[in-house]
Amino acid sequence: MKYIYRFEEGNKDMRRLLGGKGANLAQMTTMGFPVPSGFTISTEACKAFYDNDNQLNDETLAQIDEALDQLSTKVGKQFNSLTNPLLVSVRSGAAISMPGMMDTILNIGLNDQTVQVLAQITDNERFAYDSYRRLLAMFGNVVYEIPEDTFDQILEDTKMTNHYESDLDLTVEDLHTIVGKFKALYIAEAGKEFPQDPKVQLLAAVNAVFESWNNHRAQVYRRENHIAGDLGTAVNVQMMVFGNAGEDSGTGVAFTRNPATGENQLFGEYLLNAQGEDVVAGIRTPQPISTLADTMPDLYNEFVATAKKLEIHYRDMQDLEFTIEHGTLYMLQARNGKRTPTAAVKIAVDLVEEGLISRTEALLRINPDSVGAILYPEFDEKELKQNQPAASGLPASPGAASGQIYFTAESAKAAHDEQHQQVILVRQDTSPEDIEGMVISEAIVTSRGGMTSHAAVVARGMGTPATVGVNGLQVDYKNGIATIAGTELQEGDWLSVDGTNGNLYLGKIQTNDSKVNDDLSTILDWSKQEGDLGVYANADTPADFAQALKFGADGIGLTRTEHMFFKPERLLEMRRLIIAEDAEEREAPLEELLQMQQGDFYELFRLSEGRSVTIRLLDPPLHEFLPHDAREIAKVSGQLGIDPDYLARRVDALKEINPMLGHRGDRLAVTFPDIYEMQVRAIIGAALELHDQGLENQPHIMIPLTGSKVEMSWVRGIVVNQVESLFNQQGIRLKYTVGTMMEIPRACLTADKVAEVSDFFSFGTNDLTQLTYGFSRDDVGSFMPKYIEKGILKADPFQTVDVDGVGELMKMAVENGRFTKGDLPIGVCGEIGGDPKSIEFFESINVSYVSCSPYRVPVARLAAAQAKIKMSKKKDVLANYVKS
Ligand code: ADP
Ligand code: MG
Ligand code: MG
Repeated sequence: MKYIYRFEEGNKDMRRLLGGKGANLAQMTTMGFPVPSGFTISTEACKAFYDNDNQLNDETLAQIDEALDQLSTKVGKQFNSLTNPLLVSVRSGAAISMPGMMDTILNIGLNDQTVQVLAQITDNERFAYDSYRRLLAMFGNVVYEIPEDTFDQILEDTKMTNHYESDLDLTVEDLHTIVGKFKALYIAEAGKEFPQDPKVQLLAAVNAVFESWNNHRAQVYRRENHIAGDLGTAVNVQMMVFGNAGEDSGTGVAFTRNPATGENQLFGEYLLNAQGEDVVAGIRTPQPISTLADTMPDLYNEFVATAKKLEIHYRDMQDLEFTIEHGTLYMLQARNGKRTPTAAVKIAVDLVEEGLISRTEALLRINPDSVGAILYPEFDEKELKQNQPAASGLPASPGAASGQIYFTAESAKAAHDEQHQQVILVRQDTSPEDIEGMVISEAIVTSRGGMTSHAAVVARGMGTPATVGVNGLQVDYKNGIATIAGTELQEGDWLSVDGTNGNLYLGKIQTNDSKVNDDLSTILDWSKQEGDLGVYANADTPADFAQALKFGADGIGLTRTEHMFFKPERLLEMRRLIIAEDAEEREAPLEELLQMQQGDFYELFRLSEGRSVTIRLLDPPLHEFLPHDAREIAKVSGQLGIDPDYLARRVDALKEINPMLGHRGDRLAVTFPDIYEMQVRAIIGAALELHDQGLENQPHIMIPLTGSKVEMSWVRGIVVNQVESLFNQQGIRLKYTVGTMMEIPRACLTADKVAEVSDFFSFGTNDLTQLTYGFSRDDVGSFMPKYIEKGILKADPFQTVDVDGVGELMKMAVENGRFTKGDLPIGVCGEIGGDPKSIEFFESINVSYVSCSPYRVPVARLAAAQAKIKMSKKKDVLANYVKS
């Protein structure tokens, strides 16, 4: 078995065998760039190591000897040589880079004797001992697990006693003493001497790298990221070059483009007279790479040319590590560079324009979730650095905002309306009662609740930043005090909320508004061309819809009419309607609500400019609109001019044990058809109004919570009757459709029949998941985290579709629905409609569109394109297979 590959023998496509670092070192070598010679001990050797009771097997040992011989001959240096000692680095590198793995040991080959030889032949004793103390620290830490700090402390102490500013001030004598102290640490901490034999050093280092593959941190990382454990890591052994050999030497890192902005300009830093990770470790302040243009112009030009060639070869922005030894450039690493979401978008677009990659490749390279991150406002980076988070909760709705805090919806609204304050609603939790305060808030914070709590769902729907379930936050309504990690806050105090990571900061932090820039619009345009899923918005207000249109929504996939009833004057009429005991009493409030709703729909249709607008009829249990406690009942009965006892009795009569499974959705239409009738008249009325003004539009009326064909056809009858009577009255007919939510498992199971009376389906994944799993969406907080921690659930099924269960039901409903109606439009609405992983699944079962909150629209658009591209790639593979 061949376990070892010289750099000349490999290339970039051998990652699995050589690891990422090894494959790229080989690639740069074959391309003729100045890479110090070396070889890679492959991942196969790592596997063999584990098969051989965690020891290198004889074959590997023999091949290491052979490779060392070849290296020695090639570079004219040898281990232990008294004229020209060979020094090497041992560098780990798996196919996928991961934290927790042992990294690098430099200067292997130095010992008490070769350090003097090195001093002599370089005529630089300081350099030789500087290298030796580095080896002792790295080797001690990696191989004997002596804490890094204990070495650093000795260094720091020396600098302190001598009042040195930097490690460059250390004298030869200091370094001698430090080396002595380091060696003593070996005995004190590990009970072993530092091995003087370079070969022993090398093998111990290789062993340590292989062992580190299975250390706890690496295992946890692999499990969390679904990386197979049997891949193994490779080890690179490479001749040392010295950045610490004097002022004409140095070490640095560079990106071929700016990793923060994506700007096409070399970006990097270096330190003179330094080694290894000194730049990253921040030991001294590095210099910008451009300054090399003045001090070492030839070398700078060589580096720029190398960087460009590598970027063209890899067809992506590169992250490069290099070292300069006495004015000569050496390349030590190349890999695709990490970048911010903004940079990812810019670089992808630029690379297409430069002809390096195709559009589809560009689309596949951008993480859809990160596109979301570009759109949300962020805290000003400089100001953020001066602030520590005071507490942290679940990142329920992304974006950053500062505001003055209020503990009730009313006080928040008053401060907003009357004093024009930017407000943040801080509560234990929120309920539909709080909607008005939530709408005007810059951010929402709760001490309780999970990612699917009321506060979280509503905030995401509105695109308002929210942090929920904040540990260490207490809200004391009675005394009007909130305590955050020990600090008492009162209404009107400033708070800053980052819903992207869940952090809370005391005081005010400047935010930067982000918007769709040209590069992102280009990506979204390409996505639209490549993808075939429609992407609609969940929008309840004209403001939401306008936002969604800016983000490129195809129209509205879900308007939740209930949210329209939470404005004060409407809530009053709604309450009058709900407590009414017969149809006659309902007439007046219905007439009021009809006017208001028609106005709402008119605005949405007008904004739509002919795009589809799907409106869902009333869905939630009626008691959500009613006052809950005695104080509220007293207030509301006053507003309505009725007897509080009577109101209390009505509220009581409407209470349900299990409201989510109770009197809600289209069940309301079966008992009180007049509410749906009113809504339908408002929808069609608005459409006719616009038609009169010469503006065409296409209303889609959606029935929630249907469980069977008979039920759907009953409710459809109510809807169609109203529509037809309006058409007949006005002598005009418009196009419209009546479809159903698919959110009851029974409807999915009988989708072929439900389709007979539905013009479209739209999966409501929240209810469908709730009912399929039997998980109450409002109560999962108490057990879901444990389920995920224990691996019983891989992910929260309310956030990423449960492919095996809920997904199977959906697939069946799609197939059976289309069996009845071949061209049945089928959508998914709800937050999951904007989740990239779920979208990939929806594409695979031939869903026709998704609908999600405005801020998720661009995310869904890109995810849809990626899903389509990946699907057609899969199809191509099959086609090729069939041909051959
Ligand atoms: P990481 O994976 O943490 O980046 P590396 O193996 O790349 O670790 O090593 C870190 C740094 O050590 C390199 O960037 C380089 O500066 C230095 N280094 C590694 N090998 C050598 C070598 N053969 N000669 C000189 N410096 C080296
Ligand atoms: Mg590196
Ligand atoms: Mg629902």
